[in-house]
Amino acid sequence: MSTPMFEIENLHVSIEDKEILKGVNLTVNKGEIHAIMGPNGSGKSTMAYVIAGHPSYEVTEGSIRYNGEDILEWEADERARKGVFLAFQYPTVIPGVSMANFLRMAVTNTRNARYEDTIAAGGHAEKLAPREFRKLMKEKMALLKMDDSFATRYLNEGFSGGEKKRAEILQMALLEPTMAVLDETDSGLDIDALKVVSEGVNALAGPEMGLLLITHYQRLLDYIKPHFVHIMMDGRIVKEGGPELAHELEAKGYETLRAEFPTAV
Ligand code: ADP
Ligand code: MG
Repeated sequence: MSTPMFEIENLHVSIEDKEILKGVNLTVNKGEIHAIMGPNGSGKSTMAYVIAGHPSYEVTEGSIRYNGEDILEWEADERARKGVFLAFQYPTVIPGVSMANFLRMAVTNTRNARYEDTIAAGGHAEKLAPREFRKLMKEKMALLKMDDSFATRYLNEGFSGGEKKRAEILQMALLEPTMAVLDETDSGLDIDALKVVSEGVNALAGPEMGLLLITHYQRLLDYIKPHFVHIMMDGRIVKEGGPELAHELEAKGYETLRAEFPTAV
């Protein structure tokens, strides 16, 4: 059997000595879209941060492997360079840094750096030149229905919730990750913004990418169709299935499910 692209095994994570994740298992292969659903406080964002390499979380047990390599050994920037991407639930405001400059830096440090690695290893890859970067940025901004003026605005400063989420997806579009984690990309979006963002994500997803959608609500999954749905409660995945599981959850609610899993309180 071939090596899975992305594999989380028996992951235990603590913060300030409190155990948040209590043995999570999850495998994402190329071309697959997985949804993680769960009530607030179940550990979804913790999992996203641990995948991206946030230093505050302590992995006490288990592993995360990406193309067979242990990514827990890598700093956050190395994970990004290798193609792991996280769209934050709460994107940060960076005053004084324009969105265009931020994105150019991100492309230089991740996508172009990755291509340099490929070239150094004897492979073929074409780095994104400055002019191509601008062209591509404009193209992707149009796809996400973002006004050109956003390029010169400071990152996320004064952006509405929907604009911040679009900025995250724009970043994803430019970085071309192979493993993308989107943490509550639907939160705070009205229905029109949700459609635009979902169309953007659907345009980026493809046979080479693994996608992990984290969401509290089923609504997002009407627009981005997952192949697999996992329900997280109290730091564990308690139920798994296909897209129908999201609908079942919507109908029953988390409380009914909680009653089925009395250990997950
Ligand atoms: P979700 O994204 O599913 O809502 P989180 O991963 O954000 O859940 O949080 C899971 C649990 O971990 C919560 O009980 C939360 O209070 C706790 N937690 C998360 N981050 C921290 C932190 N930095 N310090 C202390 N507790 C935290
Ligand atoms: Mg969260």
